Amino acid sequence: MDRNKLLQEVQNDTEIWDFIIIGGGATGLGTAVEAASRGYKTLLLEQHDFAKGTSSRSTKLVHGGVRYLQQGNVALVLEALRERGLLRQNAPHLVKNQSFIVPNYEWWEGPFYGIGLKIYDKLAGKLGLGPSKNLSREETLDYIPTLEPDDLNGGVIYYDAQFDDARLAINLMQTIFDHDGVALNYMKVTDLLKANGLVSGVKIEDQKGDHNMEIQGRVVINATGMFTDEIRQMDNPQAKRLMKPSQGVHVVLDKSFQPGESAIMVPRTDDGRVLFAVPWHDRIIVGTTDTPLEEPSLEPRAQEEEIEFLLTHAARYLTKDPEPEDVLSVFAGIRPLVSPEGDDDTASISRDHTLLIDPSGLVTITGGKWTTYRKMAEDTVNEAAVVAGLDERESVTQNLRLHGWLKNTDAAEPYELYGSDALSLKKIAEENDGWGEPIHSNLPYTPAEVVWAARNEMALTVEDVLSRRTRALLLDARASIEMAEPVANLLAKELGRNEEWQQQQVEEYTELAKGYLLTG
Ligand SMILES: Cc1cc2nc3c(=O)[nH]c(=O)nc-3n(C[C@H](O)[C@H](O)[C@H](O)COP(=O)(O)OP(=O)(O)OC[C@H]3O[C@@H](n4cnc5c(N)ncnc54)[C@H](O)[C@@H]3O)c2cc1C
Repeated sequence: MDRNKLLQEVQNDTEIWDFIIIGGGATGLGTAVEAASRGYKTLLLEQHDFAKGTSSRSTKLVHGGVRYLQQGNVALVLEALRERGLLRQNAPHLVKNQSFIVPNYEWWEGPFYGIGLKIYDKLAGKLGLGPSKNLSREETLDYIPTLEPDDLNGGVIYYDAQFDDARLAINLMQTIFDHDGVALNYMKVTDLLKANGLVSGVKIEDQKGDHNMEIQGRVVINATGMFTDEIRQMDNPQAKRLMKPSQGVHVVLDKSFQPGESAIMVPRTDDGRVLFAVPWHDRIIVGTTDTPLEEPSLEPRAQEEEIEFLLTHAARYLTKDPEPEDVLSVFAGIRPLVSPEGDDDTASISRDHTLLIDPSGLVTITGGKWTTYRKMAEDTVNEAAVVAGLDERESVTQNLRLHGWLKNTDAAEPYELYGSDALSLKKIAEENDGWGEPIHSNLPYTPAEVVWAARNEMALTVEDVLSRRTRALLLDARASIEMAEPVANLLAKELGRNEEWQQQQVEEYTELAKGYLLTG
């Protein structure tokens, strides 16, 4: 994938696009896959890298949402459970079954959560991943040996799914190309074009070069997450703010804090939230928080109280108390929540999605969650095709295998996450001396992956590689800083960059990654 060549092609293309989609997170990428797979001429534009926003900063769960069941939102749970099943089927190399243990410290918790989770099983029906079950104290400790044993009565086990969010985003981007669409990173939409009061295209600024352009489309989709209001205000400066951003923070710990395969789910923390401690790529992710924010940001930072909250709660449920120096990485993401007028309590705002069509024809899709991206995309393309005056075509994504689809990943080792691309990666590793060896002893990532990311996954910077093509930044921020130099060197050779570029990349990356560390 040669970005410059692609840009040239887009610039020279005089035929109008059917769909222009702004935003390269779960929502925009999903919408572009939906449109391209129906045969519409589709262009997606992302201002930074794919999944730079919220879509690389989730809890990594493909879930029905036990919490929404608590809130009585059965329709949302049903929809999400169905989508969980479809995603499991369409991206089996990235979506895995995950067992969760709800530890019971009060006498009433076993029967209470046991019954709730039986309802969850029932709602999943045939798409269920395994039946929930009440566990004795001993069984609970067998699953999670490091669970705090004092006053533990037992637990409930249930099943959901887990995935790698940024890897799925990259595979969605590749699926767009597989269906003759185009997706470009580092292309920022700076204005909307209009004809007779209707949105007719976008003005774009190339963030990595000088391919600035104006592009015409039959319909423009605003899928910019927390930045939704900015695009709507390009259309109508008087448009009322819709978004109520809320931040969620995770801390990442070494696996020794919670060995084994199971996750912990705490249905109700002191302030009424759900807390997860989930094994992921040989680490434990603990999260999350729900802190209202005034302004959106592509690099949100955890607040001290949020870290304190997570460490205190982790200490309450684990035998070993994590200290700030045990935190391998801390990352924050912003929920694109749509506010019902005057609602300040972000924890209670619906996680359902919102689809809006402005009088100018601008289509906005926001809210929702990763798990339901496909359904959001299907609804959006159905509506947008009408707005654009395009012939209506049936959705095919329910059974569409995503790029990398591979059911049995045993042969793909150690590159299972790449699914069907793993064989090509192995070939690169075998043909080049040392390219199959980890770059850093704390992380599994090899030079072959860096080179693959540059050649096939549109990675343009050290951050693209270490944060979203591999997950080094989230798994061990300090080790990732130590990887920056060799990664910059490999990238420079692939992208034809000089020494000065390499140095600047290392400096920029180091500065960014320091923000993921708690201690100096
Ligand atoms: C802490 C946290 C945990 C979560 N955990 C889960 C979970 O476990 N499971 C789950 O299903 N969901 C989860 N979610 C929800 C899920 O992550 C989000 O709903 C989803 O990622 C939102 O995707 P998006 O594409 O709408 O937004 P984003 O990922 O933010 O994408 C929007 C994109 O638009 C781009 N953009 C903005 N302005 C412009 C412009 N002018 N030009 C071009 N591009 C632009 C941005 O750069 C950005 O990349 C979680 C969310 C948070 C915050």
